[in-house]
Amino acid sequence: MKTALVTGSSRGIGAAAAKELARLGYAVAVNYKSHCEAAEAVCKEIRDFGGVAEAFQADISDTEALDRMFSEIKTDLGEVSVLVNNAGVSYIGLLQDMSDEEIKSLSDVNLLGAMLCTKRAVPDMIKRHDGVIINIASMWGEVGASCEVVYSACKAGIIGFTKALAKELGPSGIRVNCVSPGVIDTDMNSELTDKTISELCEETPLLRIGTPADVGKTIAFLASEEASFITGQVISVNGGII
Ligand code: NAP
Repeated sequence: MKTALVTGSSRGIGAAAAKELARLGYAVAVNYKSHCEAAEAVCKEIRDFGGVAEAFQADISDTEALDRMFSEIKTDLGEVSVLVNNAGVSYIGLLQDMSDEEIKSLSDVNLLGAMLCTKRAVPDMIKRHDGVIINIASMWGEVGASCEVVYSACKAGIIGFTKALAKELGPSGIRVNCVSPGVIDTDMNSELTDKTISELCEETPLLRIGTPADVGKTIAFLASEEASFITGQVISVNGGII
Protein backbone atom coordinates (compact mmCIF):
# COMPACT_ATOMS: atom_id res chain seq x y z
CA MET A 1 0.00 0.00 0.00
CA LYS A 2 1.43 3.40 -1.01
CA THR A 3 1.46 6.32 1.40
CA ALA A 4 0.18 9.86 0.88
CA LEU A 5 1.03 12.77 3.17
CA VAL A 6 -1.42 15.67 3.16
CA THR A 7 -0.19 18.65 5.15
CA GLY A 8 -2.94 20.50 7.01
CA SER A 9 -5.51 17.74 6.61
CA SER A 10 -7.31 18.07 9.93
CA ARG A 11 -9.83 20.41 8.27
CA GLY A 12 -11.07 21.93 5.03
CA ILE A 13 -9.49 21.11 1.67
CA GLY A 14 -6.77 18.94 3.22
CA ALA A 15 -9.31 16.75 5.03
CA ALA A 16 -11.27 16.28 1.78
CA ALA A 17 -8.06 15.38 -0.08
CA ALA A 18 -7.07 12.89 2.64
CA LYS A 19 -10.43 11.10 2.33
CA GLU A 20 -10.30 11.01 -1.49
CA LEU A 21 -6.73 9.64 -1.44
CA ALA A 22 -7.73 7.00 1.13
CA ARG A 23 -10.58 5.98 -1.22
CA LEU A 24 -7.96 5.57 -3.98
CA GLY A 25 -6.19 3.08 -1.69
CA TYR A 26 -3.43 5.19 -0.15
CA ALA A 27 -2.47 4.95 3.51
CA VAL A 28 -2.85 8.59 4.51
CA ALA A 29 -0.69 10.60 6.88
CA VAL A 30 -3.01 13.29 8.23
CA ASN A 31 -0.82 16.20 9.29
CA TYR A 32 -2.05 18.97 11.58
CA LYS A 33 -0.56 21.79 13.59
CA SER A 34 -2.82 22.17 16.62
CA HIS A 35 -6.25 20.57 16.09
CA CYS A 36 -5.44 17.03 17.18
CA GLU A 37 -9.08 16.01 17.74
CA ALA A 38 -10.07 17.16 14.25
CA ALA A 39 -7.18 15.19 12.72
CA GLU A 40 -8.19 12.08 14.69
CA ALA A 41 -11.79 12.52 13.47
CA VAL A 42 -10.58 12.56 9.84
CA CYS A 43 -8.58 9.36 10.51
CA LYS A 44 -11.63 7.71 12.12
CA GLU A 45 -13.82 8.61 9.14
CA ILE A 46 -11.24 7.03 6.80
CA ARG A 47 -10.92 3.89 8.96
CA ASP A 48 -14.72 3.61 9.11
CA PHE A 49 -14.86 3.11 5.33
CA GLY A 50 -11.99 0.60 5.47
CA GLY A 51 -9.09 2.95 4.71
CA VAL A 52 -5.79 3.44 6.50
CA ALA A 53 -4.89 6.75 8.16
CA GLU A 54 -2.81 8.07 11.02
CA ALA A 55 -2.48 11.59 12.44
CA PHE A 56 0.93 13.29 12.67
CA GLN A 57 1.53 16.62 14.40
CA ALA A 58 4.05 19.09 12.97
CA ASP A 59 4.23 22.77 12.18
CA ILE A 60 5.38 22.72 8.55
CA SER A 61 7.54 25.79 9.12
CA ASP A 62 9.51 24.06 11.91
CA THR A 63 12.42 22.07 10.45
CA GLU A 64 12.98 19.90 13.53
CA ALA A 65 9.28 19.03 13.75
CA LEU A 66 9.35 18.09 10.05
CA ASP A 67 12.38 15.82 10.51
CA ARG A 68 10.54 14.07 13.36
CA MET A 69 7.28 13.76 11.42
CA PHE A 70 8.87 12.36 8.25
CA SER A 71 10.72 9.79 10.32
CA GLU A 72 7.50 8.83 12.19
CA ILE A 73 5.57 8.49 8.91
CA LYS A 74 8.26 6.24 7.40
CA THR A 75 8.20 4.00 10.47
CA ASP A 76 4.41 3.81 10.78
CA LEU A 77 3.13 3.99 7.17
CA GLY A 78 6.18 3.71 4.89
CA GLU A 79 7.89 6.06 2.43
CA VAL A 80 5.79 8.93 1.12
CA SER A 81 4.67 8.36 -2.51
CA VAL A 82 2.26 11.29 -2.75
CA LEU A 83 2.88 14.62 -1.06
CA VAL A 84 0.11 17.21 -0.97
CA ASN A 85 1.47 20.57 0.19
CA ASN A 86 -1.84 21.95 1.40
CA ALA A 87 -1.32 23.54 4.85
CA GLY A 88 -1.75 27.27 4.67
CA VAL A 89 -2.92 30.36 6.55
CA SER A 90 -4.48 33.58 5.33
CA TYR A 91 -4.00 37.15 6.53
CA ILE A 92 -6.19 40.04 5.51
CA GLY A 93 -4.78 43.54 5.92
CA LEU A 94 -2.57 46.16 4.33
CA LEU A 95 1.08 45.27 3.80
CA GLN A 96 2.30 48.37 5.66
CA ASP A 97 0.24 47.41 8.71
CA MET A 98 1.88 43.99 9.02
CA SER A 99 4.78 43.49 11.43
CA ASP A 100 8.00 42.07 9.98
CA GLU A 101 7.33 38.98 12.10
CA GLU A 102 3.84 38.53 10.60
CA ILE A 103 5.27 38.79 7.07
CA LYS A 104 7.94 36.22 7.86
CA SER A 105 5.65 33.74 9.59
CA LEU A 106 3.03 33.93 6.80
CA SER A 107 5.74 33.28 4.20
CA ASP A 108 7.24 30.49 6.30
CA VAL A 109 3.95 28.56 6.32
CA ASN A 110 2.57 29.39 2.85
CA LEU A 111 5.74 29.12 0.77
CA LEU A 112 8.77 27.88 2.70
CA GLY A 113 6.80 25.05 4.37
CA ALA A 114 5.99 23.47 0.99
CA MET A 115 9.67 23.58 0.03
CA LEU A 116 10.78 22.11 3.37
CA CYS A 117 8.28 19.24 3.10
CA THR A 118 9.14 18.56 -0.54
CA LYS A 119 12.86 18.47 0.15
CA ARG A 120 12.25 15.77 2.76
CA ALA A 121 9.91 13.68 0.58
CA VAL A 122 11.91 13.75 -2.66
CA PRO A 123 14.94 11.51 -1.90
CA ASP A 124 12.78 8.38 -1.42
CA MET A 125 10.73 9.26 -4.53
CA ILE A 126 13.91 9.59 -6.63
CA LYS A 127 15.18 6.27 -5.27
CA ARG A 128 11.93 4.55 -6.36
CA HIS A 129 11.68 6.61 -9.60
CA ASP A 130 8.06 7.22 -8.62
CA GLY A 131 6.26 10.03 -6.86
CA VAL A 132 3.61 12.72 -7.08
CA ILE A 133 3.72 16.19 -5.56
CA ILE A 134 0.63 18.40 -5.53
CA ASN A 135 0.94 21.96 -4.29
CA ILE A 136 -2.06 24.04 -3.31
CA ALA A 137 -1.88 27.60 -4.62
CA SER A 138 -4.80 30.04 -4.86
CA MET A 139 -6.48 32.15 -7.51
CA TRP A 140 -4.89 35.10 -5.67
CA GLY A 141 -1.50 33.69 -6.64
CA GLU A 142 -2.64 33.89 -10.26
CA VAL A 143 -4.15 37.40 -10.28
CA GLY A 144 -3.17 39.06 -6.97
CA ALA A 145 -5.48 40.26 -4.21
CA SER A 146 -5.49 43.67 -2.55
CA CYS A 147 -5.15 43.30 1.26
CA GLU A 148 -3.70 39.81 0.78
CA VAL A 149 -0.38 40.84 -0.74
CA VAL A 150 1.95 38.50 1.17
CA TYR A 151 -0.48 35.57 0.80
CA SER A 152 -0.82 36.28 -2.96
CA ALA A 153 2.96 36.52 -3.35
CA CYS A 154 3.46 33.20 -1.53
CA LYS A 155 0.86 31.49 -3.73
CA ALA A 156 2.46 32.96 -6.88
CA GLY A 157 5.70 31.51 -5.50
CA ILE A 158 4.01 28.11 -5.12
CA ILE A 159 3.10 28.25 -8.82
CA GLY A 160 6.71 29.07 -9.78
CA PHE A 161 7.98 26.37 -7.42
CA THR A 162 5.66 23.84 -9.10
CA LYS A 163 6.75 24.69 -12.65
CA ALA A 164 10.48 24.63 -11.83
CA LEU A 165 10.29 21.48 -9.71
CA ALA A 166 8.34 19.63 -12.43
CA LYS A 167 11.27 20.24 -14.79
CA GLU A 168 13.83 19.23 -12.18
CA LEU A 169 12.06 16.03 -11.13
CA GLY A 170 10.37 14.86 -14.35
CA PRO A 171 13.38 12.80 -15.44
CA SER A 172 13.27 11.08 -12.03
CA GLY A 173 9.71 9.85 -12.66
CA ILE A 174 8.12 12.40 -10.32
CA ARG A 175 5.14 14.54 -11.38
CA VAL A 176 4.61 17.96 -9.80
CA ASN A 177 1.37 19.90 -10.25
CA CYS A 178 -0.50 22.69 -8.60
CA VAL A 179 -4.18 23.09 -7.76
CA SER A 180 -5.36 26.67 -7.60
CA PRO A 181 -8.68 26.98 -5.75
CA GLY A 182 -11.09 29.89 -5.92
CA VAL A 183 -13.35 30.64 -2.95
CA ILE A 184 -13.93 27.39 -1.05
CA ASP A 185 -16.27 26.86 1.89
CA THR A 186 -13.77 26.22 4.72
CA ASP A 187 -12.81 27.74 8.07
CA MET A 188 -10.38 29.99 6.17
CA ASN A 189 -13.39 31.92 4.89
CA SER A 190 -15.42 31.78 8.11
CA GLU A 191 -15.13 35.55 8.59
CA LEU A 192 -16.87 36.29 5.27
CA THR A 193 -20.42 37.57 5.83
CA ASP A 194 -23.44 35.92 4.17
CA LYS A 195 -23.74 39.04 2.01
CA THR A 196 -20.13 38.74 0.78
CA ILE A 197 -20.60 35.03 0.07
CA SER A 198 -23.75 35.67 -1.97
CA GLU A 199 -21.93 38.45 -3.91
CA LEU A 200 -19.08 36.04 -4.63
CA CYS A 201 -21.59 33.44 -5.85
CA GLU A 202 -23.13 36.01 -8.20
CA GLU A 203 -19.68 36.90 -9.61
CA THR A 204 -18.90 33.24 -10.26
CA PRO A 205 -20.07 31.83 -13.63
CA LEU A 206 -21.12 28.58 -11.92
CA LEU A 207 -23.06 30.70 -9.36
CA ARG A 208 -21.69 29.07 -6.21
CA ILE A 209 -18.54 28.90 -4.11
CA GLY A 210 -16.57 25.67 -4.07
CA THR A 211 -16.65 22.80 -1.61
CA PRO A 212 -13.59 21.09 -0.10
CA ALA A 213 -14.63 17.97 -2.07
CA ASP A 214 -14.42 19.91 -5.37
CA VAL A 215 -10.73 20.49 -4.66
CA GLY A 216 -10.11 17.11 -2.97
CA LYS A 217 -11.35 15.22 -6.04
CA THR A 218 -9.03 17.25 -8.32
CA ILE A 219 -6.11 16.46 -6.02
CA ALA A 220 -6.99 12.74 -6.13
CA PHE A 221 -7.20 12.85 -9.94
CA LEU A 222 -3.73 14.42 -10.16
CA ALA A 223 -2.38 11.73 -7.82
CA SER A 224 -3.91 8.95 -9.91
CA GLU A 225 -2.49 7.05 -12.88
CA GLU A 226 -5.11 8.80 -15.03
CA ALA A 227 -2.95 11.93 -14.75
CA SER A 228 0.28 10.11 -15.64
CA PHE A 229 1.23 12.55 -18.47
CA ILE A 230 0.35 15.71 -16.54
CA THR A 231 3.16 17.64 -14.85
CA GLY A 232 4.11 21.29 -14.28
CA GLN A 233 0.48 22.43 -14.59
CA VAL A 234 -1.74 24.78 -12.64
CA ILE A 235 -5.27 23.36 -12.44
CA SER A 236 -7.74 26.06 -11.40
CA VAL A 237 -10.79 24.93 -9.41
CA ASN A 238 -12.69 28.19 -9.14
CA GLY A 239 -16.08 27.93 -10.87
CA GLY A 240 -14.81 30.18 -13.66
CA ILE A 241 -14.36 33.30 -11.49
CA ILE A 242 -11.01 34.11 -13.18
P1 NAP B 1 -8.36 25.70 6.74
O1 NAP B 1 -9.73 25.14 6.67
O2 NAP B 1 -8.11 26.96 7.48
O3 NAP B 1 -7.38 24.54 7.29
C1 NAP B 1 -6.02 24.82 7.39
C2 NAP B 1 -5.29 23.52 7.64
O4 NAP B 1 -3.87 23.81 7.63
C3 NAP B 1 -5.60 22.92 8.98
O5 NAP B 1 -5.54 21.51 8.87
C4 NAP B 1 -4.45 23.43 9.86
O6 NAP B 1 -4.15 22.57 10.96
C5 NAP B 1 -3.32 23.39 8.87
N1 NAP B 1 -2.20 24.28 9.21
C6 NAP B 1 -2.21 25.62 9.33
N2 NAP B 1 -0.97 26.06 9.62
C7 NAP B 1 -0.18 24.97 9.70
C8 NAP B 1 1.18 24.75 9.99
N3 NAP B 1 2.02 25.77 10.25
N4 NAP B 1 1.67 23.49 9.98
C9 NAP B 1 0.85 22.43 9.72
N5 NAP B 1 -0.47 22.58 9.44
C10 NAP B 1 -0.96 23.83 9.44
O7 NAP B 1 -7.76 25.98 5.26
P2 NAP B 1 -8.32 25.57 3.82
O8 NAP B 1 -9.29 26.62 3.39
O9 NAP B 1 -8.70 24.14 3.80
O10 NAP B 1 -7.00 25.81 2.95
C11 NAP B 1 -6.15 24.75 2.56
C12 NAP B 1 -5.20 25.29 1.51
O11 NAP B 1 -5.94 25.80 0.39
C13 NAP B 1 -4.33 26.45 1.97
O12 NAP B 1 -3.05 26.37 1.40
C14 NAP B 1 -5.06 27.67 1.42
O13 NAP B 1 -4.19 28.77 1.24
C15 NAP B 1 -5.56 27.13 0.11
N6 NAP B 1 -6.70 27.85 -0.43
C16 NAP B 1 -7.87 27.94 0.24
C17 NAP B 1 -8.92 28.65 -0.33
C18 NAP B 1 -10.25 28.79 0.34
O14 NAP B 1 -11.09 29.56 -0.15
N7 NAP B 1 -10.51 28.11 1.45
C19 NAP B 1 -8.77 29.25 -1.58
C20 NAP B 1 -7.55 29.13 -2.24
C21 NAP B 1 -6.53 28.43 -1.66
P3 NAP B 1 -4.92 22.74 12.42
O15 NAP B 1 -6.31 22.23 12.20
O16 NAP B 1 -4.14 21.91 13.35
O17 NAP B 1 -4.89 24.21 12.72
